This record gives sequence, structure tokens and C-alpha cells, in this order.
Amino acid sequence: MSDALSSHRAAAPNARAPALHAPARPRGLPLAVLGFVYLALLLAPLIIATLRGGPPRAWRDELASGLALVGFVVFFVEFLLSGRFRFVTGRIGIDRTMRAHQLLARTALIFLLIHPFLYTTALVPWELPFDPTGRVRLGLSGPSILTGVAAWLLLALLVILAIGRDRLPYPYEAWRASHGLGALLVAGLGTHHALEAGRYSADPWLAGFWLALFTLATFTLVHVYVLRPLGLLARPFRIEAVEKIAERTWSVRLREEKPGRFAFEAGQFVWATLDRSPFSLVEHPFSIASAPAELPRVEFVIKEAGDFTSRLDRLRIGGRAYLDGPHGNFTLAGRDAVGVMLIAGGVGIAPMLALLRQAAAARDRRPWLLLYGNRRADQIVYRDELEALRSRLDLGIVHVLGEPPADWTGERGELDRALLARWVELPRMADWLFFVCGPPAMIGVVENALVSLGIRRRRIIAERFRYDVG
Ligand SMILES: Cc1cc2nc3c(=O)[nH]c(=O)nc-3n(C[C@H](O)[C@H](O)[C@H](O)COP(=O)(O)OP(=O)(O)OC[C@H]3O[C@@H](n4cnc5c(N)ncnc54)[C@H](O)[C@@H]3O)c2cc1C
Repeated sequence: MSDALSSHRAAAPNARAPALHAPARPRGLPLAVLGFVYLALLLAPLIIATLRGGPPRAWRDELASGLALVGFVVFFVEFLLSGRFRFVTGRIGIDRTMRAHQLLARTALIFLLIHPFLYTTALVPWELPFDPTGRVRLGLSGPSILTGVAAWLLLALLVILAIGRDRLPYPYEAWRASHGLGALLVAGLGTHHALEAGRYSADPWLAGFWLALFTLATFTLVHVYVLRPLGLLARPFRIEAVEKIAERTWSVRLREEKPGRFAFEAGQFVWATLDRSPFSLVEHPFSIASAPAELPRVEFVIKEAGDFTSRLDRLRIGGRAYLDGPHGNFTLAGRDAVGVMLIAGGVGIAPMLALLRQAAAARDRRPWLLLYGNRRADQIVYRDELEALRSRLDLGIVHVLGEPPADWTGERGELDRALLARWVELPRMADWLFFVCGPPAMIGVVENALVSLGIRRRRIIAERFRYDVG
């Protein structure tokens, strides 16, 4: 190992890299444009209500209506955020998009849950004995209050089930289907409630706005569950090999049946449907571990984590597979770097393998340093291949073991600040890129450590294998 490091450290640090990839394809709308569109959508109902609404009411009533209008837009945009649209996720990454989806869902929930309680008038559809003229109660019709209450309760249920998803007694796929359909039901009920009960939404402009958003929400589900699988039918893969390569870790290799139809950047991931129809709900996100240069072969490195990944040995060799993607921006494409540090925890090595394999294929001359953490030595994947890559790349490899054997001479412990401080060299690495992938807790620790060691945040690219924000 020390040989690897000495050769790595002697490398000319400023050797500019040759182009590693083909020019990046359009990667989605810039954050500023997305932010502007989002703000415009949020403001649209408020502007329509202000311009076309009736005489002003008590401030609490206006606040209640305002929260309902904004909350409902936030809710509708959630469909776009989870619809795997590359124009949305291309630049910000799917993990950040999904985190935004989760945080904004909570915002929409709070706005929509509290809005009925802010009205100065009572929340009852029937006539109150002391109020024969109906001045102090909300004039909701029977159906509109029913749809409002149903949407209100169902939305709360959806968010609670999403937060506690891991503890649910049914599979992820069932949760996902119920989440999408439940959200569409909330959209329908909420739209009915807004159109029937809303003071401002009675206006044809605002009514049209809600109907347009409802149509868009429906389209996103049709896109994910019908149009996208239909498109995948034209791009089938065959399962070529399934092999155990380390403790509870498997290599799944596919071959594209009609070569040339699938392209990706090293480091990207796909939603894979293995040995099933593309319409199956059983699809899983996996990083591609092989290099684009290896197409039409595609490899995944998969760690057993649950019901699907623990039964990979049951996949039929020769069975069909479909890959939705590529997704994600854990790539070098379009990024300038004079060197690359890869920090992988466990199966977080998967996208790193793709980056290294592609770099070797492209004869990349930059210095690379891989910090690869595992609990035990038998969890290290492709150790020999990694060693062999050192002869094709200016590559240093540092294995870190949490439970090392007695004769271990390498790094021990966790990928933490103390360890990183030994390997991050400034100013030499100031213009390097730092790719981080592994368990969510490790990513947080490593990102903070790198920043505290003086690495600029925008030079750090992280990939989370779980979207949950907790
Ligand atoms: C961008 C990304 C890239 C990934 N790359 C790899 C990789 O290269 N190698 C690897 O071993 N693992 C990878 N994972 C994790 C992998 O997707 C999960 O471990 C796997 O889906 C678990 O499925 P399961 O049915 O075995 O377990 P389950 O018990 O069903 O799921 C365990 C957890 O995995 C997540 N998960 C399950 N199914 C899905 C799904 N369809 N969509 C999103 N999340 C899901 C959920 O958080 C769930 O709680 C990646 C995850 C993401 C988000």
C-alpha cells in the first residue's frame, strides 16, 4: 500500500486532464431557472386572488386562504419533483430533489393542516342557531367540506407513512404505489374542495390554474408508470451473470440487446427492473459500476439490504432487464479537476469503480486517490482489479478497516476527520474534486470534515443511497 501512495504523491499535481468523457448532454435546467419558475407558481394564485378577489376580509381569513393557496401549489409541485424529469433533477441531482420533495411535503402539510383553523368564522357546514344569516360560519357545502376533510386527513396520513416507511409491515413497492395513488387522490379531493369552497378559487382564472396543475400531476404519474416503461421496451438488456464478489455483495452483469441505445456518464445510476417487465413496480436504484467504455456490458455491484437485494441469486441468467436512466450527476462531466479523490464507504464503491474504470479506459493522467472504508477485509470488492488499475492510472489506494485483522498495516477506524486530515493535502488538492459515496451518516461526517479541512463545498460531490431526510 505504501508503494501506491508514494507513486501517487510523486505525481505531477497540476497535470491537466484530457477530456474523459464525450461532451455532457443537456443536464437539466439551472437552479436559478427552477427557483424562478417555482416562485412564479407559488405567487400565481396569490396574484390572481389579489387582482380578482372580492372585498378584503379580516387578516386571519386572508392568511388562512393564502396558506391554503400556497400550500396547494407546493403540494402539486411535489409530483414534478418525484417524476424523474431530467429537466428538474439534471443539475441538482436526484437525491437533493428527493430531499426537497420530502421537506416541501412537510411545508405543504403544515400550511394545509393549519389553514382551516385560522378562519375567524366557524368551521361548520350547518346553520348555527345564534347566526341565522350565516355571517360567522364558513359557507361550505356538504360535499366540499367532505372533500376538504378527506384531503386534509389523507395528506397527513401520506406524510406520516412516508416518514415512518421503514417501519411499515409491507414492502417498499406497495408503499410507493400507495403513495403515488394516495397523492393523486389528495390532488383530486383538494381540487374539488378548492373549486367548491374556496372564495378565491371560484374565479375562473384560479379554477383554471388548479385544473392545469391537477392535469400536470396526473401526467407525472402516467409518465412514471406508463410512458417511461413503454419507452424502456425498446431498450432491453439480458442478465448475463450474477456472482457473489464479497461478503453479502454481488455483481450483476447485463448486456444491452440492441447496442447503442443506452448511454451514460461514469458515476450515474439507473432504476433497474431485473428479470421482470418494465411495468413492474419492483425496480431499484443502482449505480452503474462499469465504465461507459464497457458498453454494451453494464455491471452493478449490489449489497444485500432487503427482500430484493437478498435474493439476487434467484435472478434468471438470460432474463430480461430494463434500465430507466441514466440519472444523477455524480460525474466528472462538465467539471474541471486537476485531481480526484474518491471516498467510498462499503458499497459506495460502486460508482467509484465506474469512475476509475472509465478513467483507465480514457488514459486519464490526473492524480487519483481512493479512500475505501469497510468494516472487514472480506467486504472489500475487486481488490485485485483496484490494485491492477494502479498500473494504468496515477492512483493511490488507501484501504480503511473498522475491524482489521491482527496483521493489518493499513488505516484503521472510520472515514472521519482525523483520517481525512492525514490524506487531504492543501494547497495541492485545492482544485481537486472530492467524490463521496456511502452510508448517509458517513457522507455527512466526510462532507463536514472536508469543509473543515479547507475544501470548498462546491468541490465535494456526494451520492446518497437513501433519500430519507428522517
Ligand atoms: C441513487 C442510488 C444509487 C444506489 N446505488 C446502489 C448500488 O450501486 N449498490 C447497492 O447495493 N445499493 C445501491 N442503492 C441502494 C439500493 O437501491 C437499495 O439498497 C435497494 O433498493 C434495497 O432494496 P431491497 O428490496 O433489497 O430492500 P428494501 O428493504 O425493500 O429497501 C431498503 C431501503 O432501500 C430503499 N429502496 C428500496 N427500493 C427502492 C426503490 N425502488 N427506490 C428507491 N429506494 C428504494 C428504501 O430506502 C428502503 O427503505 C442505491 C440507492 C440510490 C438511491
